[in-house]
Amino acid sequence: MARGRRRDDDEQAPGAPPRRLGVLARLLPLLRPHRGRFALATLLLLIGSAMTLVYPQAAQRAIDAGLSGGGSTVQLDQMAAVVVVVFVVNAALTWARHYLMSWLGERVVADLRSRVYERLLAQPLAYFHERPSGELTGRLAADVTTIQSIVGSELSMTLRELVTLLGGIGMMLVQSWSLTAAMLVILPPLIATGFFFGKKIRKRSGEVQDRLAETSAQVQETTAAIATVQAFRREVREVARYGSRVEDFFIAATKLASLRGGFIATMSLLGWLSTAAMLWLGARQIVAGTMTAGELTAFLLYTTMVAFALGGLANLWGSLQAAAGATQRLFDILDRVPELKDPASPKPLPAPEGRLQLQDVTFTYPTRKEAPALSHVSLHIDPGETVAVVGRSGAGKSTLASLVYRFFDVDDGRVLVDGVDVRDVALRDLRGRLAIVHQEPVLFSGTIHDNIAWARPDASRDDVVAAAKRAHAHEFTAGFAQGYDTVIGERGVKLSGGQRQRIAIARALLADPRLLILDEATSSLDGESEALVHDALATLMKGRSTLVIAHRLSTVKDAHRIVVLDHGRVVDSGTHDALVKKDGVYRTLVEHQLVLAAE
Ligand code: ADP
Repeated sequence: MARGRRRDDDEQAPGAPPRRLGVLARLLPLLRPHRGRFALATLLLLIGSAMTLVYPQAAQRAIDAGLSGGGSTVQLDQMAAVVVVVFVVNAALTWARHYLMSWLGERVVADLRSRVYERLLAQPLAYFHERPSGELTGRLAADVTTIQSIVGSELSMTLRELVTLLGGIGMMLVQSWSLTAAMLVILPPLIATGFFFGKKIRKRSGEVQDRLAETSAQVQETTAAIATVQAFRREVREVARYGSRVEDFFIAATKLASLRGGFIATMSLLGWLSTAAMLWLGARQIVAGTMTAGELTAFLLYTTMVAFALGGLANLWGSLQAAAGATQRLFDILDRVPELKDPASPKPLPAPEGRLQLQDVTFTYPTRKEAPALSHVSLHIDPGETVAVVGRSGAGKSTLASLVYRFFDVDDGRVLVDGVDVRDVALRDLRGRLAIVHQEPVLFSGTIHDNIAWARPDASRDDVVAAAKRAHAHEFTAGFAQGYDTVIGERGVKLSGGQRQRIAIARALLADPRLLILDEATSSLDGESEALVHDALATLMKGRSTLVIAHRLSTVKDAHRIVVLDHGRVVDSGTHDALVKKDGVYRTLVEHQLVLAAE
């Protein structure tokens, strides 16, 4: 991390529109299915908050009864009993409200997580290329959690503080409108001071965090490259550089401390001054006989409640803003309509034949507009044919495969699968017609069975075993103690490159498509593994049309046709024998072993 991230940055992506709390209203529809619970929780909350407003009344009666000497102890005992009952009921309400609100928070978050994930997986590849994957997982983890805390606790806290604030002011008015009027004069400057300091403190905290991040970044950088630091005898300089950063941090932190101290001092001074003013004004009314001591006590207790409620609301303001940022980012994903949509009325695909045509296809990556990745490319594969695409790295071979899958839309020209334009059929139908075996097969955490059945989750164990046998994946699988239930991946056994490829081939065999895309392995496998993979591939390709992104001379030689790509253009095509006779790119490729000899 070269640059420090400020807290504010975490809450708002750069360039995002200013945070608006209004976006939080979009969370309400998520609560709709649970509105019964929400209403109940809110009701409990209102009752609980209203009950706390009763305490000062009890204090008032106790003091007036005690001080005036007229009250009996029986009255006091009754009041104490009532207060205890109120406490107990309030505790029960608190539990119920807390549970219900947290339940709602967790429920909304669980729903939101799944919806965001579902939407994410529907986005076109380009969406993922434009964003670091950390950002996306971050959204699912951090942003969703921020929302959970708002629905689960902050929303109810805000409501409670609001009820206390308004109820408290209401009760104060009932107790003494003149004192309340005086309070309402004192309050606004107090709030304004709070906001003024709050803003400055937030800004300064951001700076302090920046400085801290800079020091951490340096430690990370130098310790990671400690050998270089020591080899170049940079220790003394680095220590000096670190020292000056630590100093910067120290200065920023002390400035913040001074500001915080000032804030606390000013607020408590103003707080005590207003309390004293209230006491002074109230005491005068007691002397004048227009107020009792109990009433003044109750009034002061309400004042305290109102002050705490205000403080609480000020704190919640920051959380609400953070939640608004998180909500905005998540709804950005939820609102995103994938650019590669299914057509309004998708055409059905005809019976699978395994025919592929690219007609005068031109395509430029949206993220790389300088030069088209493919220009005016035409090729066709008839049922059962194998066509190999060869070319230097960066020639456009993988792009070609992506267009068949409609990971991107062509800018010009057409891609036809079984005679139908890929843009006219539903994406699921199209992709169901194809199977791809990647150069670096991707296996997911799970069992060998799951990984083979990945393409057809309803496949029976017999189907899976049959596919594995044909792909030469059975022998080694049967060798594991748990057989097909062996877990692979990080938490299980590690497979060799050849074994992984054979599992991927078994997966494609199970999918049983007419049209196959083979992104051939360049990684060198040991002789035996190579032979097994080759044999498994031959089984897979039998009777299917195959587009091979070729690196191996053996597959290229057997192909019905070879298409030579260079800088996104088809520069030649023909059989191996015809092409080597020409003095073209293909011969250079063969001579330079860019097409790896596998014999
Ligand atoms: P090959 O498979 O023949 O090595 P590619 O099809 O991967 O070639 O790449 C063709 C060209 O497109 C290259 O210039 C490459 O840099 C560019 N390219 C590939 N993928 C992307 C992408 N996701 N975004 C932008 N440019 C890309």
